[in-house]
Amino acid sequence: MKSLKKIICAVLSIIMLFCFFCISSAAEETQIRNVIFMIGDGMGYNHLRLAEQEGYTLFMEQGADLAGWSRTRSASSSVTDSAAGATALSCGIRVANRQVCVFPDDTHPGETPRIITENAARHGMHVGIVTSDKTTGATPAAYSAHTSSRDNEKDISSQQLSSGFDLIWGANTSTVTASQAEANGFVYVTNVSGLRALEPGTRSFGQFPSDGWKLSPSKSTPTLEEMTRKSIELLSADAANGFFLMVEGAHIDKISDDTLNNAVDYPSKRADTAEAVKSFDLAVQAAAEFARADGHTMVIVTADHETGDLYYEENTMEYTFHSSGHTGKNVPVFVYGAADLFAEDAAMDNRDFPNLIAARLGWEERFPVADPVPAEPTETPDNDTEKPAKQTLWQRIAAFFRKIGDFIRRLFRR
Ligand SMILES: [Zn+2]
Repeated sequence: MKSLKKIICAVLSIIMLFCFFCISSAAEETQIRNVIFMIGDGMGYNHLRLAEQEGYTLFMEQGADLAGWSRTRSASSSVTDSAAGATALSCGIRVANRQVCVFPDDTHPGETPRIITENAARHGMHVGIVTSDKTTGATPAAYSAHTSSRDNEKDISSQQLSSGFDLIWGANTSTVTASQAEANGFVYVTNVSGLRALEPGTRSFGQFPSDGWKLSPSKSTPTLEEMTRKSIELLSADAANGFFLMVEGAHIDKISDDTLNNAVDYPSKRADTAEAVKSFDLAVQAAAEFARADGHTMVIVTADHETGDLYYEENTMEYTFHSSGHTGKNVPVFVYGAADLFAEDAAMDNRDFPNLIAARLGWEERFPVADPVPAEPTETPDNDTEKPAKQTLWQRIAAFFRKIGDFIRRLFRR
């Protein structure tokens, strides 16, 4: 009788232990391996409403697992430009307008702030940059270069070519040639058929026509959605340590930025803005669909600033532009694949994003991280770039229990 009691006790203990692992594993955060960070340049909340007024149905807000706000400003102004705005998002610091990933006011002589893409590469992640702007635009620059001014396009291109990143795609610029790209180990692509032919394992530099923001661009131009899908396909292949992808929809800003009263055709400005929002929205949907299917990918969508001071006009019942430039308004944040990244409707600082991502990926680094300025700007990253970060004992134990939990859940699902 005693031995029967012992057996029952043992069986019950094992069942309880299994239940505990399942519950604790389910309650834990989803293990994120891949990050897709998407920037709708100049996209305020009312840009979404304007696009809907123009007849588009949007995925972005309705499909999000979590929504919040980002406070935008730079070190030099309450209204940021794209260079300082993207630097806050990529390096976790505020710099003066026009600066790209440098410490402001000589606070760190001989050092540069590490870009989140550089940190991702150090952790062995694949890295990609995709934009509908030229590849030297302020936003892609802030994910791939350090320079005192966004106007230093040659310097930006030179650093991108030596970055070691897996893909850099955007509208063409005169500062990158096919031979330069190929000399740095990139396949050089200039049209949609070249893009479609790219195979996993190849690094590529894309220089496309500049109408990729449109829903139906010229035949040789990939849309932002196609670039997003293809870049995910390439980066996710053989990505043992995951990937980091930045996607920018640049033309929400460019069109909203047009001077209000300089004979711009106002209805077509509204229509073009709405088309740029929809084009970006399709790219977001593509990324979110991948995240949902993958289960270990987090997509964050936000803007560097608002452009155009769009608000609702009672008498016309329309969302209308009230500025010809950037504003200091808070911009929306949408998350897919990590519903607990922050509290619903929270307002964050634009500098907060690198550390939100770092914490979720289990990185030990906290931004801003200061690195010595390389002796030669064209040098390749050091040998550490290929080494994944070492996990602590607790991280290894947590990963082990997560695997057991995943296994049990799969058993019950069958
Ligand atoms: Zn911008």
